Amino acid sequence: MSDGNGLAEAMLGLDGFRVLEVAETPDELTITVETTTTIEGCRRCGTRAEAHDRRPVEVRDLACFGRPVRLRVLKRRWRCVESDCEAKTWTEAHPALPPRAVMTHRAGFEAARQVGELARPVSRVADEFGVCWDTIMTAVITHGAPLVDDPDRVGEVTQLGIDETSFLKANRAHPTVYATGLVDTRAGILIDMVEGNTAADLRKWCKRQPKSWLEAVAVVSIDLTDSYRSGLSPHLDHAARVADPFHVVRVANRCLDQVRRRVQNETKGHRGRKNDPLYRIRKLLLKGSERLDDAGRDRMLLGLRVGDPYDEVAGAWLAKESVRDVYLVDDPADAATLLDKTITGCGEDDVAEIRALGRTLGRWRTEILNHHTTGASNGPTEGLNLVIKKVKRAGHGFRRFDHYRLRCLLHAGGITWPNRPSPPRIRTHQSPLR
Ligand SMILES: [Zn+2]
Repeated sequence: MSDGNGLAEAMLGLDGFRVLEVAETPDELTITVETTTTIEGCRRCGTRAEAHDRRPVEVRDLACFGRPVRLRVLKRRWRCVESDCEAKTWTEAHPALPPRAVMTHRAGFEAARQVGELARPVSRVADEFGVCWDTIMTAVITHGAPLVDDPDRVGEVTQLGIDETSFLKANRAHPTVYATGLVDTRAGILIDMVEGNTAADLRKWCKRQPKSWLEAVAVVSIDLTDSYRSGLSPHLDHAARVADPFHVVRVANRCLDQVRRRVQNETKGHRGRKNDPLYRIRKLLLKGSERLDDAGRDRMLLGLRVGDPYDEVAGAWLAKESVRDVYLVDDPADAATLLDKTITGCGEDDVAEIRALGRTLGRWRTEILNHHTTGASNGPTEGLNLVIKKVKRAGHGFRRFDHYRLRCLLHAGGITWPNRPSPPRIRTHQSPLR
């Protein structure tokens, strides 16, 4: 490899092409190539074809040393010599150059990886490649969909987590649109995303899954919504249902917030302001009791003394803490004792919101205690919700659910990205930053 073109070919790394010219502008590198094929048979009759002329076709390839690359391919046209053959002339094809594509195969794949694996905005990737938004999104679909649809992506799942996320915020045209995420909580991967959060949406998804796959699911963790609980029936009736601890505590936190807001309004006649005692301690109230230091505890108690004349907020705080206590014990029998005490205590309370909390806990008693018997939780699901939010931010507001689903699954669906080089590290050393 001594001549300049040979070097260029080595750098290009595409088999079957000869580099004719490399030209540069400040914005891009233009590489003119032609194919090295010399013999081709007619696709229709098989006769050896005659080389016709060459026509330039321009596509985008992988960036080279930080500059976008325009690949100018002088595509050969062939002609069939049989006068009565209908093939007449055709343009040569190459696996690196999909017909009518704007990008080479490898560039399209890299674009899909950037958007999918790295959750980068499509517009950003489009800028870097020097193509438009639609070209990148098409590449994401072309190269990403087969990875998502690969039947080996999700194996047998024993612990399924189900949780809702918002897909579109409410606006004038529609209320908030929700999506349901299904997660393998053991492996921490997103199995699928479903539009909607109703029992019917979940049931429809279950119906599409193979019977043997559903049978392997032993535990399903859900939040405290009746839609998911009923949507699990009939396909997942055999699985133990677990109310996820995060959501159980959140229900108690919401009760506390409701009471605080109401008392705030009744005592001050307006919503919380900066100097209102209850407003000032709103975050301290939600903190776990064991995480409060002495100063924080004093501030909280003072706020309650001043702002909570009938001990209603204090009551809701105690209810919240007793719900949290259920998760401080490991033994299922102890947990049952603590939970039943909480349910009874809430049920006898004078405050309506606390009584409602007691009723909710009562309706979910079995599912709450199943956490202790199965040891399952949605912990990883909550982590995945953060991942989904990252994808949403990169998308700057999705309009199409199928695009949203694809990008979430490419990012968090346990995809194995093929052919990704893993070069050895150059000059590893102990960083002073660590
Ligand atoms: Zn022919």
